[in-house]
Amino acid sequence: MNPNLLPALVVVIGGLCVGSFLNTCIYRVPRGLSVLGPRSKCPHCGETLTAGQLIPLWSYLIQRGRCAHCRAPIPPGYPLVELAAALLATALFRLEGFSVAFFQTFGLASVFLAIGVVDWRHRIIPDGFVAAGLVIAFLGLPWSGRVSAWEAGLGFLAGGLGFLAVQAIYRWVRGREGMGDGDIKLSAMMGAALGLSGWLQASVEGSLGGVVVGVLLIIRGRANMQTAIPFGAFLAGAAIILLLIPDYLR
Ligand SMILES: [Zn+2]
Repeated sequence: MNPNLLPALVVVIGGLCVGSFLNTCIYRVPRGLSVLGPRSKCPHCGETLTAGQLIPLWSYLIQRGRCAHCRAPIPPGYPLVELAAALLATALFRLEGFSVAFFQTFGLASVFLAIGVVDWRHRIIPDGFVAAGLVIAFLGLPWSGRVSAWEAGLGFLAGGLGFLAVQAIYRWVRGREGMGDGDIKLSAMMGAALGLSGWLQASVEGSLGGVVVGVLLIIRGRANMQTAIPFGAFLAGAAIILLLIPDYLR
């Protein structure tokens, strides 16, 4: 047997389980519910899921995307988040091996994934997600080897203050709110996670992505200048790309 097969399998299964926990957080945190308990229910019929029905991805596949009890369709977002977490775990494990840096970068990528999905769906960025990202970013600092304490501190300040300034300028020019407080907190956390230069790249790419998608939606008549674009989702996506390609554009 290939000696790399077992660790790879553990990483994939671990990634799927993290994805399943992220689904719980993505569903419950914006609704003000606890992420620790009780066990998940079908949102359609309220039936508590059995242990077998909580197996990520597999249960979705054997139930053919439907609740085993009421046959209501399970939104494809659930298996997609599990799959995305498993892919992120695999890619980051290939980059970092079994190390603190792996756990830190995968933890951060998971937080960004959850923030992206919640902001996309609800246009909010829960404080709890940002706090989790800050803890992971600063706790892993001494071992990560990617970002120095100095860069993380500067990134945190630049991320917070830079976006506060953008928010104030936008309010002054347009006379209304353009950027939520959640975006500012996310930006500060991103600065701590990616360092100053990483924060700059991610915020430029995220902003460009948001503008391009916004313009496309306007052209296709599905949005106008007043439509709220989930800016945080684009920032989170750009942050994940930077975690996956650490020397991107450097
Ligand atoms: Zn059901």
